[in-house]
Amino acid sequence: MSTTTPTVAVRNLVDGQWTDSVTGRTAERRNPADERDLVSTYPESDAKDAEAAVAGVRAGWHEWAAKTPEQRGAVLEKAATVLEGRRASLVEELVREEGKTRAEATMEVSRTPMNLRFYAGEALRTTGSTIPSSDGSLLFTWRGPVGVVAAITPWNFPLNIPSRKLGPALAAGNGVVFKPSEVTPLLGTRLVEALLEGGVPAGALAVLHGGAEVSKALVADDGLDAITFTGSTAVGESIHSVVRASQRTQLEMGGKNPMIVLEDADLDRAATLIAKGAFGLAGQACTGTSRVLVHADVHDALVERVAAKAEKLRVGNGLTDGVDAGPQATARQRDNVVGHIRRALDAGSRLVTGGPEAPEGADLAHGHFVRPTVFTDVDPGSALATEEVFGPVLAVLRVGSFDEAIQVAGATRYGLSAGIVTNDLARAMRFAREVPAGLVKINQTTTGQSMNAPFGGLKDSSTQTSKEQAGEAMMTFYTADKTVYLSA
Ligand code: NAD
Repeated sequence: MSTTTPTVAVRNLVDGQWTDSVTGRTAERRNPADERDLVSTYPESDAKDAEAAVAGVRAGWHEWAAKTPEQRGAVLEKAATVLEGRRASLVEELVREEGKTRAEATMEVSRTPMNLRFYAGEALRTTGSTIPSSDGSLLFTWRGPVGVVAAITPWNFPLNIPSRKLGPALAAGNGVVFKPSEVTPLLGTRLVEALLEGGVPAGALAVLHGGAEVSKALVADDGLDAITFTGSTAVGESIHSVVRASQRTQLEMGGKNPMIVLEDADLDRAATLIAKGAFGLAGQACTGTSRVLVHADVHDALVERVAAKAEKLRVGNGLTDGVDAGPQATARQRDNVVGHIRRALDAGSRLVTGGPEAPEGADLAHGHFVRPTVFTDVDPGSALATEEVFGPVLAVLRVGSFDEAIQVAGATRYGLSAGIVTNDLARAMRFAREVPAGLVKINQTTTGQSMNAPFGGLKDSSTQTSKEQAGEAMMTFYTADKTVYLSA
């Protein structure tokens, strides 16, 4: 462990002031690759903190809304420049706090300022429409901010996901109460620091640290006009059960993403795409490949190739050169994943590689590591075939036809991402039309999206109230339309 790794005490931002929780309680966030490394401490906030944060932004957001679109855009641009200037330290902090590899963290740290710049442009591009009127009056729609938005985010992209919520929310002139994951309080704080340095008035932005307690209080607060959440389906559904009818709500949730490989596929290409989608980010991507639906004729040949790739991966601390896969982000997450592996074994699935035992190595002794794991002979009705694991565990299911593959692909409650490997254009088209997934990938990994393309799931993966990430679609969520009739 490096001696140049200080612990950062992060604080809430309430009513324009960096502050501790009224509870006085704090919690620790330790490096998931090495629990001896204390990365950050954060306030364990409760309902009183949430109430104060929302009240502060309610009082302060109008100052921000009154800025011109050019001014708001310039602030986001400057925040992006601040983040770019801190790239090296952000990469190191992201690896230490969340557990990505250096390469994965570098990608995220690069993407976040790009998101802010993209939404800086959207501040100027958000337009309404004029409508032919029957009486010669000027009839038009006028778009303004929604008001006070709560943004609740997960830990797996602690800069990138908040940036694609705070970026468009602020571009449109809203005030924001941001509740980062309790797993990544430092990275959430780093984004806020950059936004304040860029020029967002502190009264228009609040940060609340902590877990379910403060988050539940936040979503129940009457002072919110909108809630944007990314996280698990279970938590998303619990939020949905308490929001008011008038509260705009966007819930982006879990997935159980399939990759179809039929008898015509290039198996080397398929194995490469599957291994990347399943084991990249140590399996902790919402769009990660967690099921492979493979034709019986090529089943064994594909499994052999995927297993060989899984076995080659070096698991370890993301700051160590040559490491391909980091740890699970928390001990709880590791235990969950190992629990899934054990239950799959009990259910009779065949373990091809990996397994529930922790990987060996002195450098792995203090982290939450899981072996990249592949199962075959998975019962389509079993937990491994239907529930989100969110770890490096792949369920391979044998299918007899394209029809069966499409049917099995749709046989879970989720509908986030789905992929197919094929050179058959007719099959690719039919797959795109019929597979129930918001993101359809043909000859690509199930993971990874373009920052300017709509992103969101179907079925229980999303409320489908608005697509994330895609310029205009995002601005729709963060703006309220009025229809104006104007006669001189
Ligand atoms: P999580 O649902 O446990 O937590 C997400 C956020 O909600 C955190 O900030 C957490 O503190 C807060 N929270 C926890 N309990 C709450 C409650 N009862 N009420 C209100 N808020 C509460 O998810 P996680 O473990 O941080 O992230 C992993 C999950 O996120 C996976 O299911 C993954 O698929 C999903 N995810 C989805 C997308 C997407 O775009 N669809 C992207 C990334 C992650």
